[in-house]
Amino acid sequence: MSTPRNGHGHRAYRRAQAALKRRTAAENLHCWWCGEQIDITLPAGHRDAFTADHPDALANGGRLAGQELQPMHRHCNASKGDSAAVDIWPAS
Ligand SMILES: [Zn+2]
Repeated sequence: MSTPRNGHGHRAYRRAQAALKRRTAAENLHCWWCGEQIDITLPAGHRDAFTADHPDALANGGRLAGQELQPMHRHCNASKGDSAAVDIWPAS
């Protein structure tokens, strides 16, 4: 059974996350939740680590591909409360 997380859309999603991480560093983007800087060099498990978030949670019918992603701290993502949004993305 195909799910949004392991189907075709997931590969596009990973590419979009990687692109956003580069932009976060290159353009000094800030967390869209709290407005603070994000240090992309932090390990993925750190509370301030970079994550990429969909404005529309998957649980609300959002699609993985074709959405603008927003940079966010891990702890901000968690506190946002709609746990459907995002996996923690290990740095590669
Ligand atoms: Zn934040």
